[in-house]
Amino acid sequence: MHEPWTTQHSALEYQIQGWGNPYFSIGDNGHVMVTPTGPTGPAINLYELALDLKARGLVMPMLFRFSDIVGHRIERISKSFQRAIEEYSYAGNYRGVFPVKVNQQRHVVEEVARGGLPYNFGLEAGSKPELLIALSVTLPQDSLIICNGYKDTKYIETALLAQRMNKTVIIVLERIEEVDTVLDASQRLGIVPVLGVRAKLTSKGVGRWARSAGDRAKFGLTTAEIVQLVDRLAQHQMLHTLQMLHFHIGSQISSIIPIKNAMQEASNIYVELAKMGCAMGYMDVGGGLAIDYDGSKTDFHASKNYDLQEYAYDIVASIQDACRKASVSVPTLVSESGRAVAAQHAVLVFEVVGKNEVRFGEPSKPPSDSHRLLLELYETYQGIMPKNVQESFHDASQAKEESISLFRYGYMTLRERAQAERLYWHCCEKIANTLQRVKFIPEELQDLDRTLSAIYYCNFSIFQSAPDIWAIDQLFPIMPIHRLEERPTVSATLADLTCDSDGQIENFIDVEDVKNTLNVHPLAEGEPYLMGMFLNGAYQEILGDMHNLFGDTNAAHVKLDGDGYRIDHVVRGDSVTEVLRYVEYDPAQMVEAVRRQAESAVSERRLTNEQMRTLLDHYEASLRSYTYLTED
Ligand SMILES: *Cc1c(COP(=O)(O)O)cnc(C)c1O
Repeated sequence: MHEPWTTQHSALEYQIQGWGNPYFSIGDNGHVMVTPTGPTGPAINLYELALDLKARGLVMPMLFRFSDIVGHRIERISKSFQRAIEEYSYAGNYRGVFPVKVNQQRHVVEEVARGGLPYNFGLEAGSKPELLIALSVTLPQDSLIICNGYKDTKYIETALLAQRMNKTVIIVLERIEEVDTVLDASQRLGIVPVLGVRAKLTSKGVGRWARSAGDRAKFGLTTAEIVQLVDRLAQHQMLHTLQMLHFHIGSQISSIIPIKNAMQEASNIYVELAKMGCAMGYMDVGGGLAIDYDGSKTDFHASKNYDLQEYAYDIVASIQDACRKASVSVPTLVSESGRAVAAQHAVLVFEVVGKNEVRFGEPSKPPSDSHRLLLELYETYQGIMPKNVQESFHDASQAKEESISLFRYGYMTLRERAQAERLYWHCCEKIANTLQRVKFIPEELQDLDRTLSAIYYCNFSIFQSAPDIWAIDQLFPIMPIHRLEERPTVSATLADLTCDSDGQIENFIDVEDVKNTLNVHPLAEGEPYLMGMFLNGAYQEILGDMHNLFGDTNAAHVKLDGDGYRIDHVVRGDSVTEVLRYVEYDPAQMVEAVRRQAESAVSERRLTNEQMRTLLDHYEASLRSYTYLTED
């Protein structure tokens, strides 16, 4: 017999203490609890919050943003650097910036500005539109605006002019060609630029984004180009304008080693630039600070083997060491953490709307005059035991193959073939159950569990809400947000609403590597089953697309208020009309076209008046509705 299931078992099952700490945990009531300012602060019951909003007509799927988490992350990052600075008696400051590309939503960027106020947090723009955002936001007095990306004259001139509005706007040269454009613009406007240079380091990151560094990286100057840049600036008596060294070796850097290596290389370049007479003063270490999506604390791509404090210590120590050796004064430290600021604040909550679950149970004995093959299969079924699982699986598989050829040559009826197939699945199910009592599972049987698992159909689109699952096999923690005091007895994969076979989730976080199915609860009649996809706040929203015309989901901004919470903003998801307009349809014309066809169907008596009205009512109501499944 199993021991009774508790919420502690669920915590282990879903690894929530690993990836959820300090914002997500399981309450005694079996619901996921959110603590936006850490475990000592107020808690919000995610399940009740979702039902609460549903009662107000905001249906799922819904993206919840816990704005306080953004502020809390900024505080944690800034304080880690402050602590490292104090402990090492580092004679410089830390000024973080948030890369707008990670989440451009106005409410998020405004939250960064608000939460970053005590820490002089600024913004990083990777394009002209993002610079326009950065300039429109009220930022702390001493914060930085950093301009990266491909730049045209307007981008550069805007950045230069913005300096006259009491902002420190640093133009990072990402390609050697940009220096002439900047010098020209600066001369034309009579404004001296504050320049940075992005170095192409030879120290690479790891995993998916390793190509962000190295000789073939898209952006950055090689050492030869950096020297060329220095000479060019010297020619124009502009050496004093180069104030910052920048590098970015990729995102989600799961190991501390490449970070240390990059820091060491960059620190040496920094002191060299200072010695060559450049003003310097800032060292920008880019992004890459990882999120532990699977909670394993390892250098697996979905995890990280270092903590925030270690990261800050290593950066401070490395540059301090290099500066000390070269008697160069230490720079203000800048980092551009995006994922590490934004990922945790957003949770997608969605409902399971159906399932495809095959339970075979006990087969009935075929009558003795049945096809020989059916009798053999039944015998195989009956003989399955721990000692012969592999052999039984062979026998069953062979019989199934044989039934297919017998059918092909006319020696078996369709009904008989179907019976053989069913018996085969009965065998598989019994083998899978028997395997639970076997210590060593043969390789060919390892997939059986997945083959027999249920599919839970979920009311959301991966392409819209978590495109990285599809694009780069990213792992997000996914789990039910209630019934966690109950044993999850169904092993399932998840499928979304799109008709795309890629719209499925078959990889889930696991302590070791990944697992192919997720344990969930049986659906209860007439009761919603709600699941959450966590750590969803970085990159997903803007990369999301309208595959199958599923649009933006509803979003609610939840803010702590005393011991409770308030809903700050609700952003309604797209209606069908909105997504159709996006692809250039005119909904009024569409209604008209359908009306005309219906009219002629009525006049030719293929449709009754009543039926025509129902059709047009449905058509018009659907145009106004949410793009996802709704109950009414
Ligand atoms: C994308 C990007 C970042 C953010 O990286 P994270 O890994 O999300 O922290 C920072 N700087 C630059 C230049 C980038 O391109």
